[in-house]
Amino acid sequence: MPGSCALCGGDGPAPLCAVCSETLFGQKARAPRCQRCGIRLIPESGLSDCSCASCTRELPAFDRTLALADYAAPLDRLVLALKFRAQLPLATVFGQLLAREVQSQGLLCTKDIGHLRVMAVPLARERLAERGFNQAHEIARSLARVLKLPLSAGSCVRVRHTEAQAMLPPQARRVNMRGAFAVLKPQAIAGREWLVVDDVMTTGHTLAELAACLKRHGATRITNLVIARTPAR
Ligand SMILES: [Zn+2]
Ligand SMILES: [Zn+2]
Repeated sequence: MPGSCALCGGDGPAPLCAVCSETLFGQKARAPRCQRCGIRLIPESGLSDCSCASCTRELPAFDRTLALADYAAPLDRLVLALKFRAQLPLATVFGQLLAREVQSQGLLCTKDIGHLRVMAVPLARERLAERGFNQAHEIARSLARVLKLPLSAGSCVRVRHTEAQAMLPPQARRVNMRGAFAVLKPQAIAGREWLVVDDVMTTGHTLAELAACLKRHGATRITNLVIARTPAR
């Protein structure tokens, strides 16, 4: 039903009504998260207040992750609607919500704001051809517009058609991502701080591999911005 909420079908500004937006992303839905990888922290785990066990053991190549919510029902329905039913207005809303989070976390209060750039996790060419769009890029475009930051497209690409990560067991995912990205315009990457946008962060191996690739080419700092983070099992 056009003009109604994609989640509850109720009236209100499409594609997400204020009530559903508040339920999914409002103050009450917030949780303490690992500063580095964005995973929800269990308060009683006795770990330091900003790092999860995994990041304490081995630091990923990215520096920080902002996640709006856990990847769980009913948010998964919206993420899948964007990805597989091309509900592109959702990308605009997701980008606006991420922009708000970036602002409230003070990420723009950096003296190097002139070096701040936005990119989406690149999609393999085959996947792009079959889907027709990169949902992460659509979110990144909306975010960059709100924050008035330059959006980079094509400076880094996915070079190998890696099997869909979701089909693989967790231990195979990291191996699967090795060498998955290539920088085509090194001068566009070096000396820049990057906001890297994706829809869902599952194990974090894809984002870690991308961050490692960007840092090998001189990127100074990487912050991941994701809509949903898969919670620890
Ligand atoms: Zn609603
Ligand atoms: Zn972590």
